[in-house]
Amino acid sequence: MGSRDKYDSRLKGAVVILLPCPYCGPRNASEFRYVGEVSERPDPNATGAGEWRTYLYVRDNPAGWTTETWFHSAGCRQHLVVERHTVTNEVRASRLPAAQLLRDGQEERATGGSVANDGGGRSIK
Ligand SMILES: [Zn+2]
Repeated sequence: MGSRDKYDSRLKGAVVILLPCPYCGPRNASEFRYVGEVSERPDPNATGAGEWRTYLYVRDNPAGWTTETWFHSAGCRQHLVVERHTVTNEVRASRLPAAQLLRDGQEERATGGSVANDGGGRSIK
C-alpha cells in the first residue's frame, strides 16, 4: 500500500458542506469559521444571573434543523446566518444577520428561504 492509497482512504466518508454565502455564492465550509447557534440576547437590565448563564453557555444542539452564524473568514469576511440540518448537513437557507441588513440596506443579497437552485442546499459525499 503506497502513500497515495493512504491518502485516498482518508478521503472516504469525507463530507463537503457547501454554505451559500449571500456575497460569494456556494463555498466549501472550510472557508468559514463556525460562530454558533443564533440566540436572542436578553435585556441586561432585566436579566438575572441564571438567565445570563443560560444565554452564554447553554446551547440547544439539536439533531435536526438549527439556525447558526458562520463567518466567511477566507472570503468576503462577512457573517451570515445559515439554517443547517445537523445530521445531514443539508442547508436550506442563508442570509445576512438582521443587524447587518439594517446597516447596509442590502436586503436584496439575502437568499431567503430557497437556495436549492443555486447548489447551496446540497451536501456532496
Ligand atoms: Zn462570502
